[in-house]
Amino acid sequence: MMAARYFGLELDPVDFRLGQGETVPSPAALSAWAQEAGMWSRALRLKWRNLFATAGAGPVVLLFNDGSAGLLTGANPEAKIVLIRDPRAPEADPPVAVDEMRLAEVWSGEAVLLRAERSQAEADPPFTLRWLIGMVLKEGKHLRDLMIASFTISLLTIFPPVLTMQVVDRVLSHHSYSTLTLISLILLTCIVFETLLGYARRIIILIVGVRTDAKLNLHIFNRLVRLPLDYFERHPAGETMYRISQINQVRQFITGKLMATLLDLMTLAVLLPFLFWLNSTLAWVVLVCATAIMLIIVAYLRPIRMIFAKVMAAETMKSAALGETIFGIKTVKALALEPQRKSLWDERVADVGKWRLAMGLLSNWPQTLVTPIERFMWMGIIMLGAYLALSSDTGYEVGGLFAFMMLSQRVSAPLVGLARLIEEWEEVGGAMSQAGEVLNRPLEDAASTGVRPKFAGAVSFQDVTFTYAGTKLPALDRISFEIPAGTMLGLVGRSGSGKSTVTRLLQGINREYSGFLKIDGADLRSINLRHLRSNFGVVLQENFLFRGTIRENILAGRPGLTLEDAIRAARLAGAEEFIERMPNGYETYIEEGSPNLSGGQRQRLAIARALITDPRILILDEATSALDPESEALVNANLARIARGRTMFIVSHRLSSLVDCDLIMVLERGKLLDIGPHEALLERCSVYRTLWNQQNRHMYKEGHGHAALAPTLIQGS
Ligand code: ADP
Repeated sequence: MMAARYFGLELDPVDFRLGQGETVPSPAALSAWAQEAGMWSRALRLKWRNLFATAGAGPVVLLFNDGSAGLLTGANPEAKIVLIRDPRAPEADPPVAVDEMRLAEVWSGEAVLLRAERSQAEADPPFTLRWLIGMVLKEGKHLRDLMIASFTISLLTIFPPVLTMQVVDRVLSHHSYSTLTLISLILLTCIVFETLLGYARRIIILIVGVRTDAKLNLHIFNRLVRLPLDYFERHPAGETMYRISQINQVRQFITGKLMATLLDLMTLAVLLPFLFWLNSTLAWVVLVCATAIMLIIVAYLRPIRMIFAKVMAAETMKSAALGETIFGIKTVKALALEPQRKSLWDERVADVGKWRLAMGLLSNWPQTLVTPIERFMWMGIIMLGAYLALSSDTGYEVGGLFAFMMLSQRVSAPLVGLARLIEEWEEVGGAMSQAGEVLNRPLEDAASTGVRPKFAGAVSFQDVTFTYAGTKLPALDRISFEIPAGTMLGLVGRSGSGKSTVTRLLQGINREYSGFLKIDGADLRSINLRHLRSNFGVVLQENFLFRGTIRENILAGRPGLTLEDAIRAARLAGAEEFIERMPNGYETYIEEGSPNLSGGQRQRLAIARALITDPRILILDEATSALDPESEALVNANLARIARGRTMFIVSHRLSSLVDCDLIMVLERGKLLDIGPHEALLERCSVYRTLWNQQNRHMYKEGHGHAALAPTLIQGS
């Protein structure tokens, strides 16, 4: 943390995660911690002489054999000493000068290097075919082996035909048994070599493929989760998933077809000169035929590409329909919308079928046209070869014809493969742009930029105006207010008045506002996004619980937290009593969508999860709106305790649950009407008074004494 502070970054010990089976922080784990926080960091082994070179560029963390650490802050090569600071020593103490002997006693070379900023290029290359190919090419050593293996295999393929030629010409005409034996032995050796090399080649391709896959998947996910929420709100999940899955097609193409064809072309480079040497007339026949085939395929590329774009579009729509139905299945069933969904699906399927058929019909043509040429090439060589042999005065040998026939097939295959490759290149380009459509959007720069102040929780809005993209009226219109740290602020207003938008701006979900938004006096835009959000606790009306135990859900994978923390958070959220009544307590397993929990229980778990990090600012956005009165009363009773020591933003349309707030803010069509405590608002704000009366009149009419039962007619009124 001291080293990071030198570069102006605060590392949070809560984020630190020990590696598997470690008791003492390893260099790798420390380095990963710094990288998480957006720094550049490497764990490595240094030698004594390296220390002089590294010491100039900022402090280096040295990990000592006993599990402690020191900070290398300087070095003096002339005096042969390095300066090391003990992190536990008082700040004012000077660093200790150490020589090689003394250092070697406690240090065996483990070190962590840190820099403030990782280079932009390393962190965020745009997602293009070139980048992908570059990634494959990074497997340099494997690819070199692959080339060597393939080249050797190509050479080996020449041997059998040449030897067959010898058999036909020499052995048969001279009845030479010894030559036959020799040739057989050579052939046998060739076969053994080819088998072994083929085996090795396939393994290399496999390894390169698997490694690329893993890297690619990590990269994709990393980008995906850093897309702004905005994107996910505008695009159905099914569509995104389909687009992303297109990557696999691209990857398979690069490490499969593309690589195979390139290797085949290498064979061609070896074979073609040899064919011309054998017989140039026949070689020309092969070359002309193969070129004709290529031309035919190329001619069809453009029309096929156009239809293919339609196929892709239809497929995307189809996936979106499927995804929507699955994610909205509760609504579908509840409203008996199955027939409508089904007919939508039918339409989408029919659409895909139509375009796939069209594409199939079109791409049938080049295949059909190519077949006769392929056949002609094959048969033509035999006929022409026989003719040449018959009419040759120089005694053209039949063996040569045999060899030529065996080899010519190897020539046409790579050429046709190349043409098909160009065709497929189009598809892959399509797939690539599908994936790029998702992955090449501007990302939230969560990790690396911005300051990381310690929050107290004072919030101020100055003339904040915000309009959602694609809408005309501003969702927030020149909002200005200021609250000190520890305030419990209620937000009320009709549906659509901008309450949630206030909380969204605070969390940095939407950043294109005008005016100033400050937390503890620091401009929101200058604050590191991840730092900002990890200082917020947010509970929404609908909260997603992940598959896992209750404990895991409350901790949500945050490192450095224990069951005790989970219990404390659960108690604060009023969730403790029901968790303890569960058959397995905190180890009770929650399925996806949490069917084994009631709405109230789910909500209290969500509150516990939001409280686990003890956030300075807590946002409850209609968090209790969907609860039954009893659960709501339970949560509300805890609100005062929950609020202790933090700023709270409570959005609720039930005014009764906000009476105890320090301040209540009344919004109306994006404008701030008034802000003040309940009593004051009741007196001076007519909108507030109307809302209050509406809710309470109902309460009295229905004869319920409990405020939480007040019906909620103001929504959408
Ligand atoms: P409230 O929380 O008070 O119900 P919101 O803050 O959600 O209101 O919405 C304020 C206005 O902004 C509404 O008119 C709403 O239609 C619009 N709005 C909210 N979210 C989005 C969004 N993601 N995209 C476009 N418009 C939005």
